[in-house]
Amino acid sequence: MGALPKKKISKRRRGNRRAHSAINSRQMSRCDNCNSLLPSHRTCPVCGHYRSKEIYEMDQPKVKFR
Ligand SMILES: [Zn+2]
Repeated sequence: MGALPKKKISKRRRGNRRAHSAINSRQMSRCDNCNSLLPSHRTCPVCGHYRSKEIYEMDQPKVKFR
């Protein structure tokens, strides 16, 4: 047997520990070129620009939005 907890952690204690572990929504910013809302550090899915430089043209198949 591996290491086991000595005592059961109560619901209150477990909840208190998890109080800070919620996932926050992504940091959003505006595109320099078309002013649309997008997650920061990502190429714009609307116009294909990143930091006012064109990365890909929009008639090409779109790079998957991540
Ligand atoms: Zn854009």
